[in-house]
Amino acid sequence: MATQNDRPSETPSHNIRHRLLIVEDERKVADALREGLEGENYRVTVEETGEAAFFRLNTEQFDLVLLDIGLPTRDGLDILKALRDDNDGTPVLILTARDTTTDRVTGLRAGADDYLVKPFAFAELLARIEVLLRRGTIASAQRLIAGDIEIDLQSRHVTRNRQFIELTAKEYEFLVCLMQHDHQVVSRETLARELWPETARSVTLNNVIDVHVSRLRRKIECGNLTKLIHTVRGVGFILREEKP
Ligand code: CA
Repeated sequence: MATQNDRPSETPSHNIRHRLLIVEDERKVADALREGLEGENYRVTVEETGEAAFFRLNTEQFDLVLLDIGLPTRDGLDILKALRDDNDGTPVLILTARDTTTDRVTGLRAGADDYLVKPFAFAELLARIEVLLRRGTIASAQRLIAGDIEIDLQSRHVTRNRQFIELTAKEYEFLVCLMQHDHQVVSRETLARELWPETARSVTLNNVIDVHVSRLRRKIECGNLTKLIHTVRGVGFILREEKP
């Protein structure tokens, strides 16, 4: 996929399926973009109105936003400004039919990272997405984010809904392992190998893993918070937000 030319010293972004939000009210354009980008292994969400996009951006984390300017209910530039006012640095690539210097300058001043004028070649869009994601990957290499849970890998600070969660060293490693593979099943074997590398393979760690996962769940899924860690029977665990 997109990151195959990355230098090996960079973060392992080839393991990550990047999440893209397409904000586009022209159904045909949105469908074509979705199809093309899913074909490139991106995870794609589409919103057709400004308000819906704004709501989506407030509740979910994306690696990149493809943002049309002319939108029903709320203008793309307005969304962009609100995002930046909220200190949200998600890369934004503006897609627009307007091609004047003033429009470009306005978009960039509002906090856009790049600008593409319709109609554009899909290959050019892909290239620009790759550049922005690479830039974003370097900036966010110190953080892991999945839904409303966030880990600062430098300080080992874990928050959910911006509330600090105190974890033991093993619970922390457990959560990091699940978040590095979010939306993928992590097998018990992988967990055992990564968290208890000193233990012989012949020793079954099932009970130890079960104890840690239930403690972790108690801490990160307490109160009304949605379930995050799901058991995949006979295999392992997967971290994803339960659909309401
Ligand atoms: Ca439009």
